[in-house]
Amino acid sequence: MNQGSSTGTILEIRNLCVDYLTEKKPVRAVDRVNLTVKRGETLGLAGESGCGKSTLAFSILRLHKPPALIPEGEVIFNGEDILCMDEERLRRIRWNDISVVFQSAMNCLNPVVSIRDQMCDVILAHRNISKADAVAQAANLLERVGISPDRMNDYPHQFSGGMRQRVVIAIALALDPQMIIMDEPTTALDVVVEREIMAKLEELKHQFGFTILLITHDLSLLGEISDRIAIMYGGRIVELATSEQVILDPKHPYTNGLINSFPLLSGEKKVLSGISGFPVNLWDPPPGCYFAPRCEACMDICKRENPPLIEIEPGRQVACHLFPTPEGGAE
Ligand code: SF4
Repeated sequence: MNQGSSTGTILEIRNLCVDYLTEKKPVRAVDRVNLTVKRGETLGLAGESGCGKSTLAFSILRLHKPPALIPEGEVIFNGEDILCMDEERLRRIRWNDISVVFQSAMNCLNPVVSIRDQMCDVILAHRNISKADAVAQAANLLERVGISPDRMNDYPHQFSGGMRQRVVIAIALALDPQMIIMDEPTTALDVVVEREIMAKLEELKHQFGFTILLITHDLSLLGEISDRIAIMYGGRIVELATSEQVILDPKHPYTNGLINSFPLLSGEKKVLSGISGFPVNLWDPPPGCYFAPRCEACMDICKRENPPLIEIEPGRQVACHLFPTPEGGAE
C-alpha cells in the first residue's frame, strides 16, 4: 500500500461531488471539491451553514445516507480510494485510522451506559484485547483529556457539557487514529470551555501526532488553531491558504465578508459588517460564480462563468475572477 508519506499527504479529495436526490432533480451540495490534507496538520474548513462542509465531512468516510449520493470523485487516504473500498476494509479504516467527532456528539453518549463501558465498547469492537486491558486503556485516555479515571463509572448526565465533549474526544482517540475529523466539535459550549477543549486537543495532537480536519463556521477559532484554512461557499472551495493569510489578508470577497462578520480574539477592534444577501439557493443556483448576487466586486464575467480554483501564489488558491487564470483575464 502506498502510504503517501513521501508527499506528506494523508488525505486527498479529488473532484468530489455529493448530490441530494429530490423528486425533481438532484441538488449538488458538494461540487467538484479538490482538497489535500497534509499529514500532521490541522486543516480548518469554514463557511456559512448549508455550504456543504458537513456533507463533505460525512462523505469522506462514506457516512452519508440517502438521499445523499456521491456521483463522482475520489477520496484517497494513504493511497487507497475510500469510495472504492469494500465494507470490511472501510470498517477497519473507520475509528482505527480516521475517527469522527460529530456535531453535538456529547449529546449522543448513551445516557444509561457508564463512560467506562462506552469507551470499552469502542476499544473491544476493534482490538483483540482483554476487558481489563480495555478498561486500563480507557482510564489512560480519560486522564489524557483531563478527566480523573475515578469518574469512569459515572454516567454522562453526571458530567458538564465540556467534560462530556472531552469524553467524546477520548473515545475518538481510543484506537490511536491517524486522523480525526471534527464537525463543529465545540458549538454547544461557551467560549471559555471551547478554548480549553481546543487547547487540550492541540496538546493531544502533539502527543499522538494525528492530523485534524476541523469543520466550523467560527473563523476566529480556526485562526488560532489551524495551520491552513479552506473556505467553502455553495458546495465549492473558494479559497485555501495558511491561517495567517486567510485571517489577515483574505483574497476572495466571500472570505473577506466572513472575516468582517466575526470578532477576532486578537488584533485591532473593528466594526463588523457581515455579508449582505442570502446564501446561494442550491436548488436553483445562478450561472457563473455562486457568490455573484452578494458580491460588491461582481463583474460581467462573474455572472456567466464559474471561476476555477487556481493557485495565485505557492500554496495559496482562490476561485475568483479578480485573480485571472494565466490564459484568461478579469473583465
Ligand atoms: Fe465576486 Fe466575481 Fe470573485 Fe465571484 S468571481 S467572488 S462575483 S469578483
